[in-house]
Amino acid sequence: MNAVWRKNLFDVGEIPPLGFVPRHMYAWTIRPDRQGRPQEALREEIVDVPSIGDDEALVLVMAAGLNYNGVWACLGVPVSVFAFHAEKLHIPGSDASGIVWAVGRHVRRFKVGDEVIIHCHQDDGDDDECNGGDPMNSATQRIWGYETSYGSFAQFTKVQSRQLMPKPRHLTWEESSCYTLTLATAYRMLFGHPPHTVKPGSNVLIWGAAGGLGSMAIQLSTLAGANAIAVIGDERKRDFVANLGARGAVNRNDYRCWGKMPDIGGEQYATYLSEIKRFGAAIRRLTGDRDPDIVFEHPGAETFSVSSLVCKRGGMVVFCASTTGFKLSFDSRFAWTRQKRLQGSHFANCKQASDANLLVLQGRVRPCLGQVYQWRQLPQAHEEMLDNKHAPGNHSIRVSAH
Ligand code: NAP
Repeated sequence: MNAVWRKNLFDVGEIPPLGFVPRHMYAWTIRPDRQGRPQEALREEIVDVPSIGDDEALVLVMAAGLNYNGVWACLGVPVSVFAFHAEKLHIPGSDASGIVWAVGRHVRRFKVGDEVIIHCHQDDGDDDECNGGDPMNSATQRIWGYETSYGSFAQFTKVQSRQLMPKPRHLTWEESSCYTLTLATAYRMLFGHPPHTVKPGSNVLIWGAAGGLGSMAIQLSTLAGANAIAVIGDERKRDFVANLGARGAVNRNDYRCWGKMPDIGGEQYATYLSEIKRFGAAIRRLTGDRDPDIVFEHPGAETFSVSSLVCKRGGMVVFCASTTGFKLSFDSRFAWTRQKRLQGSHFANCKQASDANLLVLQGRVRPCLGQVYQWRQLPQAHEEMLDNKHAPGNHSIRVSAH
């Protein structure tokens, strides 16, 4: 037997012969007794390559996408990832590009050697929501690399075969690794909650518009013929959002109406409302005097009250996160009398992920690759994200790619 076939551990960046599965691999892990800031929580370890089931695939990770859920996984907030699964270690990472390295005996659509990207929706596939309903409503729905271990921050990852999608040929490994989680989430938020879907001429207010979700939401809204109104927190992001197609941008630092809503009735509340009106007026200047049909929300505690006020009568605030705090406040009178829809949204089902990826395959949506990090920089990349010091767009970590 050739020496390379006897090897049971390969260096990061060293690619084994196609289909040869070593016994061990390098991975970034979190352990139950090591949760906190990314620099403390994440450690490089040598671990066993996971075995796969009949419907699963093992993928050699070429590049992995950086996502905010890696930050949550490190912090153990709002819950520890070890509450989701029984593994002793957690390998985070919910985006990847790579090569199919092994497949279970029921896998038909993909074979060893296929170049793929991976979306993060998993489910058990055997209930009514998974068979005619919406798999996102299945009690078994879970996010790979967050609610499961063996995510993409390792040389190999274990996935359900229905998570695999073709890698866009015109993109590099790094570009193709970085966008699926944010793009598919934005796709469901903007098109998955009828009748409040983005239409030609709609106005869409997009928070964190230069971020991972925001950069995808601008492109999807623009592609549908809507006006994307970007909110930014730094003037240096203005050109970035304009280049993606935003009709205009508002800098949130020019306003003082953030955080917990003051008690209703007092002078403080009146000042707060007038500041929101000033923010609303800035939006209207960009929309031809209209309020947003859809507000694309994710900061949460700092902004939710404002979102629910600036949204148009009969419009929708759609939110997929509460990064700045989970306890939201809003003046409910304006929501019911003006019949606004406050809609929670979470990742996407396989069909939505695939439809969103089609737009990238067709070259209509760009991945917006911001920063490419080296393997050893993975904790630092998460630190930058936690501190909102990262570059605009989506980001990638090189694993086996060079
Ligand atoms: P990101 O790339 O870090 O972008 C977030 C943006 O939020 C930043 O670019 C920042 O832009 C803005 N921001 C920061 N502090 C803010 C504040 N106080 N008020 C208003 N805006 C603020 O992160 P992301 O990938 O877009 O993800 C955002 C959140 O969504 C995370 O919590 C993530 O876990 C969650 N998420 C959930 C799902 C799901 O399926 N449920 C999917 C994807 C992401 P400015 O500083 O320029 O304003």
